[in-house]
This record gives sequence, C-alpha cells and structure tokens, in this order.
Amino acid sequence: MRTIASPIDGSPLDEVDEPAPAEISAALDAATIAAEQWRRRSATERGRVLLEASRLLRQHTSEIAELETLNTGKLLTETRREAARAADCFEYFGGYADKVTGTVVPVPGAYHAYTRREPFGVSLGVIPWNVPYFFAAKKIAPAIAFGNASVLKPSPETPLTALRLAALLREAGVPEDLVQVIPGGSATGAALVGDPRVKLIVFTGSDRTGRAVAKAAAANLTPVAMELGGKSPQLVFDDAQLDSVVEGVLTGIFGGCGQMCIAGSRLLVQESIADDLTARLAARVEAMIVGDPRDPDTEVGPQVTRRQADKTSSFISEGIEQGAQVAAQAPMPQRADLARGFFVAPTVFAGVRPDMRLAQEEVFGPVLAISRFRDEDEAIALAHDTQFGLAAGIWTNSASRAHRVAEVLRAGNIWINSYRVLSDMMPFGGVGMSGYGREGGTEAAGLYTWTKSVWTWTAEHSAVVFGGAR
Ligand code: NAD
Repeated sequence: MRTIASPIDGSPLDEVDEPAPAEISAALDAATIAAEQWRRRSATERGRVLLEASRLLRQHTSEIAELETLNTGKLLTETRREAARAADCFEYFGGYADKVTGTVVPVPGAYHAYTRREPFGVSLGVIPWNVPYFFAAKKIAPAIAFGNASVLKPSPETPLTALRLAALLREAGVPEDLVQVIPGGSATGAALVGDPRVKLIVFTGSDRTGRAVAKAAAANLTPVAMELGGKSPQLVFDDAQLDSVVEGVLTGIFGGCGQMCIAGSRLLVQESIADDLTARLAARVEAMIVGDPRDPDTEVGPQVTRRQADKTSSFISEGIEQGAQVAAQAPMPQRADLARGFFVAPTVFAGVRPDMRLAQEEVFGPVLAISRFRDEDEAIALAHDTQFGLAAGIWTNSASRAHRVAEVLRAGNIWINSYRVLSDMMPFGGVGMSGYGREGGTEAAGLYTWTKSVWTWTAEHSAVVFGGAR
C-alpha cells in the first residue's frame, strides 16, 4: 500500500495498492486473452468503442482535472486542457481505427501480393509523473484502436487519474481485461518490461530508466519506443518580435512548473538583443504568482514530488556556485497552508556557459538558462551542444532563416515563432538521448502494428518458386 501525497500542501490524498508478482502475471494472462478477442472485432466496431469513450471522458473533464491538480500540483487551467486532450485523443484514434490499410504490391509473376497491418497483442505503456492522465490516454487509445490490449504502468507518485481513466473506459464499453492500469514503482515496471507476454513497449521517462528498459526488452527482443528527456533550446534572433518571444519563452519553461520533457530550458539569444530580452523576462518573472494551482491567479504551482523539488533546488545552488548569474527569481508563496508544499521559485540564469550542468542536464523544473550567440552558425552549434534532441524553438521574422535553421536542427519537434503546441495528429518523439520511435499521427499506426506480407499464386497450375518472383 502506498500513500499518495498532494504536492500543494503535503497532505495525504489516497492509498493505492501495488500488485504482487502473481497479480501482475494474472493481469498479463488476462490481457493476452482479451487482445486475442479484441483483434477479431471489426476495426469499425473498435473505433466506435473509442468514440464512446471519448464522449464519456469529455463529460468528466472537470472532475478529472481537479483530481489531477490535487495529485500533481499543476494549474487547473493546464489539467483541464490535458483532460480535454485525452478525450480528443480517443476521438482521433477512434476515427482512425478503420483507416489503417495494407497495400497491394505489383510484384512480377503470377502473384497477388499484399500487406496487412497486424496488432502486436499486449502493448505496455510506462509513463512518468508529469502528465499522468493525458499520457495514459495517449498510450491506451492508439494501442486499442489498432487491435492491441493495453497495460499501463503509471508513476508510483501519480497513479490516481490513470486508475480513474481505466474505470471510465470500462463504463464506456471497453472490454474488462483489455485495458489494465497496474500501479507500482520500478520493481513493477521491471517485472512488466521483462515479461515475454508483453509484445510492445512504449516508454516515456528519463534516459537513465530508458536505458534499463531497452536492456530488459532486448532479452526478449521486444520492440520498444522511447520518449525520453530533453534540454531543448529556444533560439532568438535579433529580428524576432520580442513581445511574442517573452510569452513563448515563459510558457515554454514555466508551464507545468518546468516539468515538461519539451521544456525550452536553454534560451539562446543573439547578442544585440540579449540585455533587452533578459530585462523583459526578469520583469515578468519577478512579478510571477507562485502558489495554489487551484487559484485562477496562480501562474506557477509546486513541483510534483518532494524529490523533484529538492533536485531542482540543487541545480539552482550549483548554478550559482559555478558562476551563472541569477537574472530573476519569482517570489515564493507566503500562505501558511502552503508551507509544506513542494514549491521552488522559478529562476532565470544569465551568463550560462556550455560546460555548466545547467546547459547540459535536464533539470525538469522551473529554471531557465540564458546564453548568447553572435550569428546563426554559433546559434546552431550551441543548440547542438547537448546529447538530447527532443525539441527546439526558433524566433525570427525571416521566413527563409526560420526554415533554413529548422532544416539543420537535430530535434524531433520544432516550433517557429511559437512553442509547446501539440496535437495527436502530429508525430512526436526525439533523437539522440531523447529517444527513438514516434507516437501520434499516422506514425502511431506504424508503431502499434507490424507488417505482414502475403503472397498468393494466381495461375491455374500450382508452382513453388525459390529465389524470387518471376
Ligand atoms: P523515470 O524514468 O524515473 O520513470 C518513468 C517511469 O518508469 C515510471 O513509471 C517509473 O516507475 C518507471 N520505471 C522506473 N524504473 C523502471 C524499470 N527498471 N523498468 C521499467 N519501468 C521503470 O522518469 P520520471 O522521473 O517519472 O519522469 C521524468 C522524466 O520523463 C524526464 O526525464 C522527462 O523528460 C521524461 N519525459 C519524457 C517525455 C517524452 O514524451 N519524451 C514526456 C514526459 C516526461
């Protein structure tokens, strides 16, 4: 039994049972049987179940958002948006379910040759604590749309909305064992990823855990997609609209209290505008309201876990020790009832050198690191001076520069004159230490199915041909 605490004030929220090994094994057996039955239902029928789920999830948006805010400390405005996106995700993949087709291939000879897209069976989603409800939906919806069962392991700190999602899906008509949410920590995760009954793993989390998961999956040659961390740069050129840049940079780093894989945590600014942009950001950050995420005026809430709050604070102390300058820091909340909450003051560092940890390692908290560049080449070199490749922002009024830079940047997701815009209709994923494989859009159909090639001899007499078609 694990006690779930609220990051807003440290108070206990709920107690969640973590399964014993025998229960994990029974869940995988049940999911395997459910997958076999589900794949035999027509794709249209499967899609209708997802569309019904979407309708029900939309009705429960407010309830889910409130629970998510209590468990994660994220602003209600954010959790409402994420809850609505979860309903959108079921709608999108519900509509997509019967649009995945194979191809007929004009091979030479008397053959009718075609391909089919087949579900894997049991698909395992493992997710982190920063976006528990929407990430659960994002793992489950495409998996079942394309004919798989979905086993989901949420983070031990934030399992509540994923468990609620599983209950709502059953209410919407999703078969009993097809979707299983199994709470638990790293031991539960390790038991699941190492089990040969799991036929596909879609992992979201840190690169450290990602490596352990990839190793465990390799033992069974289980296919894996990895959605890992980032140290994403926002490149601001001297012809950019600074008012828009300020808004884009602030939401890019302080949204979700900085706990976003795509956080724009490195701000790379052209020298001639660096002082001006830093001053504008500092003015906004120093006036920022940090506090209770249920209060509509609050702009930044607490971190999700005490451990993360401590980690972020240690990055801030180390940045100061290493000689980066604190350009701005938001005031901490003053309310007595928030004193035990997991708050960290949003902080902007200027003068960050590429060799500092602040420029290289993922903080996963509300900390922005500003560095300067002279020209486009230096901007690109600085952007690439990291092992990650998840996202990047480009701010410029020159369309040719925007596309030129977007073409060379090594990052899975690039925003031009915007940041942090996401849709299930677009592929999402990273390169380098940010992972491999793509969720979302048409790529999701490729991720959650495998291709079978079928050859049919069409001439009157039968023949066996070795070594290629005639
Ligand atoms: P984490 O890697 O510590 O944990 C992620 C999940 O893996 C959790 O559910 C955890 O219980 C589980 N786990 C731990 N050890 C395991 C093991 N040996 N086998 C199987 N599962 C195991 O990550 P976190 O601290 O929960 O989340 C923060 C990280 O997630 C950050 O690095 C962030 O960038 C990343 N993230 C990536 C994306 C993306 O889409 N690229 C999105 C959000 C977060």
